[in-house]
Amino acid sequence: MGNPKGFLTHTRELPSARDPKVRVGDYKEIYEEFPVEKTTTQASRCMDCGIPFCHNGCPLGNIIPEFNDAVYEENWELAFEILSSTNNFPEFTGRICPAPCESACVLGINQPPVAIEHIEKTIAEVAYEKGYIRPKPPTVRTGKKVAVVGSGPSGLAAAAQLNKAGHFVTVFERDDRVGGLLRYGIPDFKLEKWVVERRVAMMEAEGVRFRTSTNIGVDISAKELQAEFDAVVLCGGSTVPRDLPIDGRNLKGIHFAMDFLKQNNKRVAGDNIPKAGTLTAKNKNVLVIGGGDTGSDCVGTSNRHGAKNVTQIELLVKPPASRSEETPWPLWPMQIRTSSSHEEGCERKWAILTKKFIGDKNGKLKAVELVDIEWQFEKGKRSRFVEVEGSAREIPCELALLAIGYLHPQKKGMLEQFGLELDGRGNVQTTDYATSVAGIFSAGDMRRGQSLVVWAISEGREAAKAVDTYLMGSTVLEGKDDSRVEVTV
Ligand SMILES: Cc1cc2nc3c(=O)[nH]c(=O)nc-3n(C[C@H](O)[C@H](O)[C@H](O)COP(=O)(O)OP(=O)(O)OC[C@H]3O[C@@H](n4cnc5c(N)ncnc54)[C@H](O)[C@@H]3O)c2cc1C
Ligand code: SF4
Repeated sequence: MGNPKGFLTHTRELPSARDPKVRVGDYKEIYEEFPVEKTTTQASRCMDCGIPFCHNGCPLGNIIPEFNDAVYEENWELAFEILSSTNNFPEFTGRICPAPCESACVLGINQPPVAIEHIEKTIAEVAYEKGYIRPKPPTVRTGKKVAVVGSGPSGLAAAAQLNKAGHFVTVFERDDRVGGLLRYGIPDFKLEKWVVERRVAMMEAEGVRFRTSTNIGVDISAKELQAEFDAVVLCGGSTVPRDLPIDGRNLKGIHFAMDFLKQNNKRVAGDNIPKAGTLTAKNKNVLVIGGGDTGSDCVGTSNRHGAKNVTQIELLVKPPASRSEETPWPLWPMQIRTSSSHEEGCERKWAILTKKFIGDKNGKLKAVELVDIEWQFEKGKRSRFVEVEGSAREIPCELALLAIGYLHPQKKGMLEQFGLELDGRGNVQTTDYATSVAGIFSAGDMRRGQSLVVWAISEGREAAKAVDTYLMGSTVLEGKDDSRVEVTV
């Protein structure tokens, strides 16, 4: 610990965000440049605690105090070495992780926590700049062939680790570009796509093969894949969205959030979107149904389209403004979160039920009927809600976006062909990442249900260890310290 007084002399400082009025005019990341020297100062705030709770807070078990110290000492190579020993893609998590580590930071008990996520991003960017991140193909090949299905963060992490272990890895992706939700879910203003492409190019140079526009279960059968590869890792994500089957659902103007976001990311990437299928919020009253991150991404995208106004509604009650007694430190706090998209303009409402969609004579959405609800919580019983009498009203709406979560992975096609057992929620059932069929493994949202990028990377790494052990009898891959207590986010 280089500076024992850092936390006493410096306050938390992060890059400022660009003016909301300016940034809604583009899809660039929202933050201004931040001098590297300021990041070293931020790293000096780490107290190098006897028990670093941030380790448990991070699903990857990132060794945070050690890399903070290396950053403070301006030993960027060491900082990167420490960080990359647990995290394959710090340039992703350093931008879009909700940073549960910061909620578990000991300094956070009575001061703003250490700016861990930002420090992580800076380490990654300096490492690219200085050439510490460069193609490092394995020196020995095992001769074993592994197929990874899905190129989201879990598939990419599994592929990177298995390639490092010397196996020949091919990643199959049904979309036309690599990246999963990093590419076609998360908007560019949170994660510009050159960041994903830079990493994919690095992996290709290390020997990983990518086959896009290849749908396993359609273009290549499960049987064919099993015959060609020694092991298969299924990282297909949680892709079946929850629907809202109420009156008027079939009207024109009601879409799943992912259809809207994916098309927009394609447009930003320069793809030509046929006019007939264009989904736009321009000059429309937009209602985003669902108060989570996906909904917030719809808000930011709608504002960039030039929506007339944007409202985001949520069924649950408004969370408290700060950490509540139910989620004491170092747990992930249940509290209201205001995203950069919310700051750009949006009305947010809680405890609202969508009753019906109302159309015009041409079958186009023109309004939505909403009603306030009151939640009733009784100890030992499932919470329920009742509608508030007389609160029903119609609001004008020409575009409604459903952002109410995902049910499970798609069963038809690949999963059915492999004949895999599923768990009670419809996700792929595994024991130590091995599915019910020998040689077939699974990781990420397809296995754990919809989650976070940091969890997907962690799952991909752990699945790679299981595959390596299956193929070689033991594993050369490093992994998470199993004695760590997991903090659920
Ligand atoms: C809009 C949105 C915003 C989000 N924002 C954040 C955020 O800011 N921070 C965060 O931490 N998390 C965020 N998440 C969650 C995060 O993106 C996911 O948890 C993570 O991407 C899951 O990774 P994965 O690799 O398991 O699956 P995915 O990223 O879903 O990737 C699965 C891939 O598998 C492919 N695939 C599926 N079936 C087949 C098949 N049969 N053949 C070939 N390919 C197939 C799919 O096309 C897809 O590319 C967000 C999610 C959404 C929807
Ligand atoms: S990956 Fe996320 S939780 Fe882990 S150290 Fe980085 S910001 Fe924190």
